[in-house]
Amino acid sequence: MQTLRSFLKGEWVAGSGAGRALHDAATGAEVASVASDGLDLGGALAWARAVGGPKLRAMTFAERGQVLKAMSAVIHEHREALIDVSRHGGTTRGDAKFDIDGAAGTLSYYAYVGKGLGEQRFLLDGEAEPLLRSKRFVGQHVRLPRRGVAVHINAFNFPAWGMAEKAAVALLAGVPVVSKPGTPTAPLAVRIVELWHEAGVLPEGAFQLLVGGAGDLLDHLGAQDCVAFTGGSETARSIRGHANIVRHNIAVNIEADSLNASVLGPDVEVGSDTWHMFVNDVSREMTQKCGQKCTAVRRIFVPEAVADDVVAALSDRLAAAGVGDPADKDTRVGPVASAGQHRAVQAGLDALSAAATRVWEGSAPDGAGFWVKPSLFRSDKGLDTDFVHEHEVFGPVATVLPWDGSVAGIAALVAAGGGGLVCSVYSDDPEWGGEAVLEIAPWNGRVHWGSRKVHDQSPGSGTVLPNLIHGGPGKAGGGSELGGVRGLELYMPRTAIQADQGLLKRILG
Ligand code: NAP
Repeated sequence: MQTLRSFLKGEWVAGSGAGRALHDAATGAEVASVASDGLDLGGALAWARAVGGPKLRAMTFAERGQVLKAMSAVIHEHREALIDVSRHGGTTRGDAKFDIDGAAGTLSYYAYVGKGLGEQRFLLDGEAEPLLRSKRFVGQHVRLPRRGVAVHINAFNFPAWGMAEKAAVALLAGVPVVSKPGTPTAPLAVRIVELWHEAGVLPEGAFQLLVGGAGDLLDHLGAQDCVAFTGGSETARSIRGHANIVRHNIAVNIEADSLNASVLGPDVEVGSDTWHMFVNDVSREMTQKCGQKCTAVRRIFVPEAVADDVVAALSDRLAAAGVGDPADKDTRVGPVASAGQHRAVQAGLDALSAAATRVWEGSAPDGAGFWVKPSLFRSDKGLDTDFVHEHEVFGPVATVLPWDGSVAGIAALVAAGGGGLVCSVYSDDPEWGGEAVLEIAPWNGRVHWGSRKVHDQSPGSGTVLPNLIHGGPGKAGGGSELGGVRGLELYMPRTAIQADQGLLKRILG
């Protein structure tokens, strides 16, 4: 059985204490253990500030981009071995590729951003502006890398992509990272960092990995550090309210729960290209990674007249997505990742059964693994279906909610989720679709408009792309990651410098 180790201050170290056991999601067998008691986390942060920060800040964006390119190449080279490592967490081959290729692709994208930013070490924000009557005294906004550490706390569902997407942006900004993966799937994160370390692609002090509990990590943060968190909203609240974080006003970016919606426009005919796009997207978003995706569709809004057709079409598609052994190449849906997730999903299904009607249920193997039967629910009570608009069941589960087809009605229903990461709208009517998209947009970080002309050339609503922002208002955490250069903002705060324009030119170029 593997004992997972952390990579701190340039060395692989195991924590002490009872720790936690990790289980194979398909069999329930114990596969690894991890403990983080006794680790010198304050020392790790200090080391990153003293060694990693200066090393990264001395590099240009193009040089930092080269580091990301090398990190991406290592993941790509070991892709097959990494797919095998990820299997214990219940991922099918397709699910593992989604995570691992997403990690390599995002690093590679930010390597390209770095190349584009070239020989600079910081960013100018806008132009210098004269401040008074004299043209000599000007003000210029600049973005410089924080002098601290980026602490990344990730959810269990994307051990490769989640770690890599956050690291790509922080390292490109010139800020060293301490990354903590979600414990149930931490072995994949550990293996990737081992490979980076063995390949010698990480500048000294630039990247450290903490596995197991976060211990007293947050107690050691200071005013130049920042936190990027992905996970549940309860954990998010405890991090945002952490006494040391409040005391130093430490910047925190939160990606949390999201009741993502999918909306079928009243103009879409059953059997049309746009209809098929909607059915394909929704069924994939419900089942990929066994529904353990922050961008998975949870609420499906459809016009009353086609609600029965939607339920029938989705049930057919879902029935074709077999649940079973993730190692079997025909399996489309594996188990959920851990016993804790299994308990949470089962409790969510019980609560949904009380709030709505289960209109389709799939099958799943019996046995010791963390199996969940995919389920489709329906509620004709719209806004009055409280649980559906409030609680994210993090598994292969969604609810169909018929509505009257009005823009005002759909705006209120989408808003009832309290803010989401992504909402998809399917319509070929430029007026209805355009109005609906603009009404819905303020409640979501991203809106995906599906229509006839792009029905076969869209990645779907659930694929997070590094050139677009990822995050959402309200319940989704209020954060924003990625989005090309926009993603650097968390790590490169804005400062206004006012001075004689000649002097300013000398320091800013
Ligand atoms: P979680 O239980 O909130 O854990 C998230 C991370 O926080 C894990 O690394 C966890 O460590 C750590 N953590 C827990 N308590 C902590 C504390 N007091 N201080 C510091 N760190 C702490 O969430 P999860 O079960 O991993 O993920 C599922 C949830 O994440 C779902 O609700 C889903 O919606 C959300 N999610 C959101 C996004 C997004 O981008 N918005 C993406 C993926 C998932 P341990 O694993 O060691 O407990």
